[in-house]
Amino acid sequence: MKGASHERPLLEIKDVAKRYESHQALRGVSLDMRKGEIISVLGPSGCGKSTLLQLIAGLALPDGGEIRLDGDVISSSRGMQPPEKRGVNMVFQDYALWPHLSVFDNIAYGLKNRRMDRADMRNRVGELLEMLQLSGLEKRLPPQLSGGQQQRVAIARALATQPRLLLLDEPLSNLDMRLRIEMRTEMAYLFRQLGTSVFHVTHDPEEAFAMADRLLIMRSGAVDQIGTPSDCYSLPASRWAAALLGAINRIEGTIVRTARGVGLRSGSVLIEGVGAEAAAEGSEAELLFRPDDVVFLGSEGAPSAAVAETAAAHEDGRTAFGLTVLHSTFEGKRWRIVAKTEAGQKLYLLGERLLPPGTPIAVSLPRSAAYIYDKSQERS
Ligand code: ADP
Repeated sequence: MKGASHERPLLEIKDVAKRYESHQALRGVSLDMRKGEIISVLGPSGCGKSTLLQLIAGLALPDGGEIRLDGDVISSSRGMQPPEKRGVNMVFQDYALWPHLSVFDNIAYGLKNRRMDRADMRNRVGELLEMLQLSGLEKRLPPQLSGGQQQRVAIARALATQPRLLLLDEPLSNLDMRLRIEMRTEMAYLFRQLGTSVFHVTHDPEEAFAMADRLLIMRSGAVDQIGTPSDCYSLPASRWAAALLGAINRIEGTIVRTARGVGLRSGSVLIEGVGAEAAAEGSEAELLFRPDDVVFLGSEGAPSAAVAETAAAHEDGRTAFGLTVLHSTFEGKRWRIVAKTEAGQKLYLLGERLLPPGTPIAVSLPRSAAYIYDKSQERS
């Protein structure tokens, strides 16, 4: 896109801070968002996601920093533009539909307030009903709809006035798993077709991946990482981001500088990995990886056959090490295997078959899937 990089961002969040009594809910959050972009804010409960959303919506005032929309300051500690003047609409977790108004009237609510011509209003609501697969339901009241249908009405209502920015607060958390998967795919498709700018908050990484052009990963009121879902997935910026993105296995140890870069020593095992570029030899570190990145060497449960493969693994940038099986549970397609390292650290793997407790196994881990974090370099 020619000249796109010089375009003014739609939303500029600059060093925003917010305190509730003794609790610092946001500590200097910054982000620039392009027009038409979908940003998903991802983080555990209590990390400040909803607070950030409320500041953008105009439902709360920041203590520091500022927020600009299309270049105009809409929030700062000096004051804020009223929510209704921002051209920002929000879809709430509990939908917040008017229970006594029909589907049609719910969707048309903002248009009526703007005194839109009746025929234009009917056309606009008709378009939205079709887009959100609600045609035929326009006379129903919200309590006569399923959760998924109510959610679609809430989205249609928020889109009706063509907001400059759409805010979504955990929009799918009240739906069952099957519907969540269906809805997140549909929403991502719809917003991209319409070119809607969306600022979306969720604690669910899969929902964030399905929706976002870029993720903003938060922890304790600050930003851990901003990047595309695939960049964040392939190299999480902190051990918290890594754990959030599925790297649930952790091994503690110390940094070793190797010919290829960096490794972690834990007991007699040295595992090569990525990250911690600036870490000093010997500093305390943690290595994280995902269960599905572990490769079993030899036939599972026959580690002696794998000894020859161990050297080969080292050659092509994988590290091989031995584990002992503690427990296996069937997960449908594969078995989740709980095993422990020589030092007694518990790890989770995915295997093809049941392995009895006590079975020694040899596994390897590709270097690019072993994330190493220097603990001395972390923010609190
Ligand atoms: P999230 O949406 O990520 O779960 P929130 O933004 O709701 O997080 O909350 C961030 C932190 O601020 C939490 O520790 C929460 O308890 C606290 N908090 C949120 N709202 C208030 C409030 N009105 N008064 C006091 N503390 C609050």
